[in-house]
Amino acid sequence: MNNFVLYRKCPICESSKVRFLYKIDFELFENHPLADGYELVVCKDCSFIYANVKSTQKDFDRYYEYLSRYEDDKTCTGGGLTEYDRNRLNDLSNYIDSTFKNKKIKILDIGCAKGGLLRMLKNKEFYNIVGVDPSLNCVKETVKSVGCDAYKYSLFELNLNSIGKFDLVIFSHVMEHLLDVKLAINILKNILNEDGFIYIECPNAMRYHEIIHAPFQEFNTEHINHFTENSFANLFVNNGFKKITLGNRVFKISSGDKYNAVFGLFQFEDNKCNLLSKDKDIIIAINKYINKSQIIFNEIENRIATLNNSMPVIIYGLGQLSYKILKSNYIKEKNIKYLIDNNPINKGKKLKGVPITSFQEFLESYNRQEDIQIVIMSTIYENVIRNEIIDKLPSVKTIMGFSDIVEKRHNPSSDYH
Ligand SMILES: [Zn+2]
Repeated sequence: MNNFVLYRKCPICESSKVRFLYKIDFELFENHPLADGYELVVCKDCSFIYANVKSTQKDFDRYYEYLSRYEDDKTCTGGGLTEYDRNRLNDLSNYIDSTFKNKKIKILDIGCAKGGLLRMLKNKEFYNIVGVDPSLNCVKETVKSVGCDAYKYSLFELNLNSIGKFDLVIFSHVMEHLLDVKLAINILKNILNEDGFIYIECPNAMRYHEIIHAPFQEFNTEHINHFTENSFANLFVNNGFKKITLGNRVFKISSGDKYNAVFGLFQFEDNKCNLLSKDKDIIIAINKYINKSQIIFNEIENRIATLNNSMPVIIYGLGQLSYKILKSNYIKEKNIKYLIDNNPINKGKKLKGVPITSFQEFLESYNRQEDIQIVIMSTIYENVIRNEIIDKLPSVKTIMGFSDIVEKRHNPSSDYH
């Protein structure tokens, strides 16, 4: 497939020479701000893998603003961190504590959420700490519970006048979402003191293939840059930073699975350097991930094919996996009658012309005389949803899920290892 329009130059080296790797399509709700698919490409000059998305920064801003408008009230309403978050942030705070002996350094946490990391840093006697987050509730919660300064800013609002300068800026799990990576680097440079440090962390594309959380999960509407140790080095060294450390960090996510993240510590020294190194292993690693995902996806499609074509199908759970499955030819011939999703953000939206309703609304409008088939699209919450359906609708005979297919990767004798 060579006949596609390049909407996006390489975010790392600005080259327009790319090679096609994979086409990914999403069935999104009507009027969704983001593009309903993209080509995954690899830069021929620096081997960076990224999404050739047609969406503009305005589209992404609109999307994230819309998400935060609804989630603001739900997130950051007190309560503690999850065990998984706590462990991940504890590791990071230990790393910062062992790396920076001077406790007086000024630290900024971009996207501080409820201030979990800042609290741990304070406990380690770092008192010059500041957080920023686009959510006002998060900012309020951080100020209240950690007792440090925190401000409501998005990344693009940060500058010398708004926030000042820092000795260490922490930028974790943000860069994979950004259309304009260069702009983010310039913003970071602007708020760093002379010889200041940047700590960066993103999902590790070199190791996607080690654990398949769901097929093609890493190629989603939001993650449009796929970093590795090599691409971090290319990006920062070519922008005047010196490499201090690069590595892989493993943490557990809420499903209980391990997750690999690439991290780097770089120091700003304003040395201009034009040295791009190629990453010869990344294409092999990404192709492994694509192939493993494809095997799982095919099994899911085969199961969907067994659904009765004349009986209505109810889809339960809309997320990155369902965006891909709903695009599949196997589901197109099925009679999808309801789409159920309990996230208020999706309320009132339509997908394939079918309105999205909550489970409660569905129960109120469903005619119990009609035979239906329910397909659960969430793998993490499949059991919870299945039990809920059995409890409320004991007469439904077909309840289909895919978590057993995805979980085969845990079985050492299966093909997924
Ligand atoms: Zn490049």
